Amino acid sequence: MSKPINPIIQKTIAATSIHKMMTFKTRNNIFKAFSRTLSAVALLALTVEPTIAQQDFSQVEIIPHQLTDNIYYLEGQGGNIGVSIGEDGVFMIDDQFAPLSEKILDTLEELSDQPLRFVINTHQHPDHIGGNQNMGREGAVIVAHENVRTALAAGFTSGDLNRALTADQRIGLPIVTFTDSVDFHLNGDDIHVFYNGSGHTNGDSFVFFRQSNIIHTGDVFRTVAYPRVDVGAGGTFHGIVASYEKLLEISDANTRFLPGHGVVSTQTELLSQLQMFKTIARRVQNAIDDGMSLEQVLAAGLTAEYDARWGDPEGMLTAIFNELIIR
Ligand SMILES: [Zn+2]
Repeated sequence: MSKPINPIIQKTIAATSIHKMMTFKTRNNIFKAFSRTLSAVALLALTVEPTIAQQDFSQVEIIPHQLTDNIYYLEGQGGNIGVSIGEDGVFMIDDQFAPLSEKILDTLEELSDQPLRFVINTHQHPDHIGGNQNMGREGAVIVAHENVRTALAAGFTSGDLNRALTADQRIGLPIVTFTDSVDFHLNGDDIHVFYNGSGHTNGDSFVFFRQSNIIHTGDVFRTVAYPRVDVGAGGTFHGIVASYEKLLEISDANTRFLPGHGVVSTQTELLSQLQMFKTIARRVQNAIDDGMSLEQVLAAGLTAEYDARWGDPEGMLTAIFNELIIR
């Protein structure tokens, strides 16, 4: 598959050393496997996001934002990528979409001359794991909650987990999984990766850089829209509420939260959203107590004062209704 040369890559080639040119050529061979990667990930994507084929990545720029001496986040298209750099190597959280991998790797090379050692997947959605196979080929160890591996493997085998995975598929799967938490000790930080139950999906991980006091929240916490509860992936609204409470409990006024989508925030933003969630959930409960159906709840304007800021509430209200009705 030929790749269009865009201005960023041209600039990189012009400025690069012979060593980096060799890396680039190696990567071009590696990236010929893109089409296979895309077809497998697109299969998974069908249920949750617009398919990759519908998206144009050629104009996407990867923009690094520095948070501390060692920690950055990369903005491109898809979930915010967290990055820790330093003497111990590059540690990355999420990897957006496969067609962006080369630009992401170029950006990492500009930030650090150390190898990419670990990629954490905060959850299974294609805009967070799409680059897994490419990062695996670069030698990264992919780490995630066990439910993420199960979901991604099912995407490759159409849900038949007894079907053998090819080596090419395995390289994009988490090869280290955990159920509760796992800790990394890198680049002067103790990095606590932990699970707090179902929320956005059934495999959401939070990544807490303890010394730097920064938490990557995956898509459980976002600043761009109402919470997205991916019910098909085992998500629950009440799990998202519980996760906000947990994040507030383990953090302090100086903690910076790096959301899956949106801007770096403090406890103030989480607290404000949490209060809104509880207000909305109380209203839905009252509506259920009054005998209202889901259609009536959706038409009742229960979130009217919030919608201008947060958008369409239907998915969230549906999740809240369905969870409360079976309690
Ligand atoms: Zn997501």
